[in-house]
Amino acid sequence: MDPADFRRHGHALVEWIADYLAGAERYPVLPRVAPGDLRRALPAAAPEQGEPFDAIFADFERLIVPALTHWNHPGFFAYFAITASAPGVLAEFLAAALNQQAMLWRTSPAATELEEVALGWLRDLMGLPPSFEGVIYDTASIATLHALAAARQAALPDVRAQGLGRSDASAMRVYCSEQAHSSVDKAVILLGLGHRALRRIPVDDRFRMRADALRDALAHDRVAGGMPMAVVATIGTTSTTSVDPVGEIAAICAREQVWLHVDAAYAGPAAIIPDYRPLFTGWEQADSVVVNPHKWLFTPFDLSAFYCRRMDVLREALAIVPEYLETAEGQRGVRNLMDTGVQLGRRFRALKLWAVLRHFGAAGIRARLAEHIRLAELFSRWVDVHPDFERVAPVPFSVVCFRARPRGGAETPAELDALNRRVLDAVNATGEVFLSHTQLNGAVVLRLAVGHERTTETHVARAWELLTRHTAQLSSSR
Ligand SMILES: *Cc1c(COP(=O)(O)O)cnc(C)c1O
Repeated sequence: MDPADFRRHGHALVEWIADYLAGAERYPVLPRVAPGDLRRALPAAAPEQGEPFDAIFADFERLIVPALTHWNHPGFFAYFAITASAPGVLAEFLAAALNQQAMLWRTSPAATELEEVALGWLRDLMGLPPSFEGVIYDTASIATLHALAAARQAALPDVRAQGLGRSDASAMRVYCSEQAHSSVDKAVILLGLGHRALRRIPVDDRFRMRADALRDALAHDRVAGGMPMAVVATIGTTSTTSVDPVGEIAAICAREQVWLHVDAAYAGPAAIIPDYRPLFTGWEQADSVVVNPHKWLFTPFDLSAFYCRRMDVLREALAIVPEYLETAEGQRGVRNLMDTGVQLGRRFRALKLWAVLRHFGAAGIRARLAEHIRLAELFSRWVDVHPDFERVAPVPFSVVCFRARPRGGAETPAELDALNRRVLDAVNATGEVFLSHTQLNGAVVLRLAVGHERTTETHVARAWELLTRHTAQLSSSR
């Protein structure tokens, strides 16, 4: 593509993106497509001759856009709502053009050092001590895999050479709550510990890990010949955003000499608000922490921040320097990012985090997160006073778990579950909002997650109006 064409298409694209970011409400949040629709609309094979970008862009608008789920829609309340903020999008555009491959300091001094600086800023804003060294991964799942790889290295120093053949490898145990994310399961499986090595600790009536049950499980396993290797505590669990008692858990881990990894993938940015800092008490004692700027920090997907107080253990587990990657500065101890992860090549993700932190500023971030929390609390009060709804979990951050439970209440648990599923489907079919569900204490529960930059009280009120209206219709039509 010659520079003149690049300019023409680039300018048109910027126009399109500006309209999109400002007006995603034009689209239904969930696309009105069935599985296979897009695949069938596209040619079975790549073109033999190159095609003009105009044709590619026309098909993008005609075929791709109608099959998009609009995570940038302010009515997106499912899973965890996220934002591709404009400064983050612009930084991604630059990062694509620069094509940095930051395996070695030498292959991108800028990406290597900006990663350290941007992660240092974020760490300090969240009140984690400087003893935490940071590295960027794509997702929290990969961060947790690396945390547990380091924990395995710490517990079994010869695992790197010997693998898991040693007899005590099969005795390794990992602990997390019943509400912890499935990425912990995947990490345990991938690290060769076997899924049975994972102990799911019961939670209290607020969905927080029971420290007494953790203590009992560790003691029980030690007696039975098990070797506790790591505990994963969560600040902001995925279903209810509950907060494990990290201070107590940290004390247990210190006494037992067990690696503590804190998963704050969603909630971590709330530590930037002084009033919310107490919910994070104890995380500064963790061995490692993960926070996802791509969740609640306005950074376009993907960017996960991993912080570790013992990054040397992770390097011990993974670092390998073949001859063709030797550098003089590497031998002098300059940080090479390939040493702290499975990936060799890494892209320039730090640029968008740096842009986001500078664009919003700490005050701007605090104000936006506080507004999301206010909106969730508002919605939560509407649920609390409505006779046909109930809230089923506390609201520590910006997610509300609730369910329809119409007056009269003759329904069986199965009928109530079915009603809630029908309400969810009906509300999502409007295209105005998108909510998702979970299961708590065996019952289907609806979730409203506030987290998009442009979500306002109007959008939350509209979600509530649709929920109450469809609940009334569906419960009277039975
Ligand atoms: C979302 C989430 C994850 C997984 O995040 P990815 O970045 O998509 O891997 C892990 N833990 C918690 C608590 C989460 O909310």
